[in-house]
Amino acid sequence: MPDLPFLPQEVIRKKRDREPLAEADIRRFVQGTVTGAVSECQIGAFTMAVYLNGMSREERIAYALAMRDSGQVIDWSEIGLSGPTLIDKHSSGGVGDEKVSLIVAPLAAACGIHMPMISMRGLGHTGGETDLLAAIPGYDFTPPRRRFMEVVRDIGCAIIGPTAELAPSDRPIFFVRDVSGTVESIPLITGSIMSKKLAAGINGLVMTVPFGTGAFMHTEAEARALAESMIEVASGVGVPMVALISDLTEVLGDSVGIAPQLREIVRFLTGAYRETRLLETVLALAVEILRMGGLAGSDAEARQRAMQRLEDGEAARRFARMVAAFGGPADFLDRPDAYLPTAPVVAPVFPDRAGFVAGMDCLRIGLAMVALGAGRTRPDDSIDDAVGLAGMARVGTAVGPQRPLAVLHARDQSGWDHAAAALRGAVRIADAAPPDRPVIVGRLSG
Ligand code: URA
Repeated sequence: MPDLPFLPQEVIRKKRDREPLAEADIRRFVQGTVTGAVSECQIGAFTMAVYLNGMSREERIAYALAMRDSGQVIDWSEIGLSGPTLIDKHSSGGVGDEKVSLIVAPLAAACGIHMPMISMRGLGHTGGETDLLAAIPGYDFTPPRRRFMEVVRDIGCAIIGPTAELAPSDRPIFFVRDVSGTVESIPLITGSIMSKKLAAGINGLVMTVPFGTGAFMHTEAEARALAESMIEVASGVGVPMVALISDLTEVLGDSVGIAPQLREIVRFLTGAYRETRLLETVLALAVEILRMGGLAGSDAEARQRAMQRLEDGEAARRFARMVAAFGGPADFLDRPDAYLPTAPVVAPVFPDRAGFVAGMDCLRIGLAMVALGAGRTRPDDSIDDAVGLAGMARVGTAVGPQRPLAVLHARDQSGWDHAAAALRGAVRIADAAPPDRPVIVGRLSG
């Protein structure tokens, strides 16, 4: 029997009516998002049907692999790289969490790993690494593929933005999801992340999967389900993967926004200040990466090696070399303020009453930052690199007239006023500090 013509609406109807999708249906639909055979409204309808009805294990794997195969897959043997040290790191995303990649990649490189990282721009209330890179003057985050590969080989890490060659179907689908209420879907997130990671031709993947109001997954159980779904795809193609479940019920590190986070990255790498939960996250990831790459015999040894490379400045030097290799300023680490914009209104936000920070609604904080201009409300919006917050008081901090909740960086006074009110409303104050909570609460592997 001749093949039936491809009808995107039939694929959508099947998913709407909870009928199983064949691998060929999924492949042709995904390919159609790149060729134009599938329109934006059909992507919207399909992603909403998946959001509501989910995907079976087989469908999830087929969808992720179809997205990977919508473009090229990097072959590292072209430049003589191979083996277990070719590892990537990713996070499924959360408020203030994108800075982790810009610290972990050079740290891993300093320890002997080769980390090719294809990052994303911000989505919804969460940020993305690409937006951080775009704020470094001169940094070319869409270099030719060969250049990307050479930087990985020579420096050990290269972080770039999405490319038209690797998993190109992610771009049209991602843009529609961002504005159609279909972001928080396990099959769609799995496909989006795993397609890009597998297209980078890596031999291992270590991730954080955060949960909490600041993340896409609100509960620990949801984060575990997402982690399991991604591990299923990785195992399906024989790529070892570790997922660390992380608690993002508070802002990670002490900053949100582009310039504030870049300053925090510089302070972290140079040792000027390392917020404890951020340090714990970085070290936990480094331990997994070094163990997976066969570069340490025990967790303790891996942790010690990573700490040494932070302290002796080698991680910072790798970051500086990567920035320079992609056209950014060679002295960015020494003089970040010469290159980063400063917001016109910078002032502390004090709490309504003195006490201890007992918790925070990170979604509200993230949305307040989007309203300030640090995120997008439409896919083609540009981001205001100067705005955001710094010096965020973490849970357990005593705040009051002497210790603000954070320092807000705004474009104007009315923006500052709105964000300050949102921040006060988002942070819960109590008479006593709550018990400390670990940042990494679980580990899954496959
Ligand atoms: N990060 C991605 O790259 N894709 C998603 O869908 C969510 C987070």
